[in-house]
Amino acid sequence: MYWKDGDTLVSRNNEPKLSITAPFESLLETLPQDCPVPTPIVKFGLLTQHVEPSSDEFKINFDKESIGSSETAVVPAETLSAVEYLLYNHSDHLSTKQKQRIGRFCEVTQLDYANKLGASESTVKDAVDETGTENYPFIYRTEYSCDHCGDKFDSKPERDSHTTDCGDTENDAAETSEPSQQSSTKKRPALGKEIRKDKGSERVSGRNPFADTDRLKDTGLHQGGGN
Ligand SMILES: [Zn+2]
Repeated sequence: MYWKDGDTLVSRNNEPKLSITAPFESLLETLPQDCPVPTPIVKFGLLTQHVEPSSDEFKINFDKESIGSSETAVVPAETLSAVEYLLYNHSDHLSTKQKQRIGRFCEVTQLDYANKLGASESTVKDAVDETGTENYPFIYRTEYSCDHCGDKFDSKPERDSHTTDCGDTENDAAETSEPSQQSSTKKRPALGKEIRKDKGSERVSGRNPFADTDRLKDTGLHQGGGN
């Protein structure tokens, strides 16, 4: 469920933040206030490339099926007109193939109904509520980066196991390099910031990575029983 926040779309369910273009922002202004952005409209923005993940850690990939199975868009008449307007005036960057795909999408979702009556404000809000738990399977994470050093990894487990070691190394460095102000100044400001961002900051600060019971469960190492 995405909400408009300035020139971005933000989700309260951990979905990645999305950037929007000025023309798309105008389109969103036709939707009721205090209402999440209907998913078909988010999809429309992604398909027309007027919406994209703010971070390059994510990419968009629609397959044929996710286009064909898109739900009907319940939006006001003004939004339908805005969709038409955007397609006429702000789609030069799209290939013929992309335009065909958008055409198909607008057909399925009935976003091409600009000449018909749109939905009332309350109908729009009700429809959004019903689809409140919708996922965004077409937004993919392309890489996982370490919160400490920024190194990139292909999978989450890979990143997580690195981050644990990486964080410990930095903690140790910060603790032990106390006397030498010069050498520690580089690392320290970033370190405090990164740790606040890190949701896993309840992580045990000891040097033994296996002191964390959650981590033991993940790795299954607690079954080994070796002392
Ligand atoms: Zn790292």
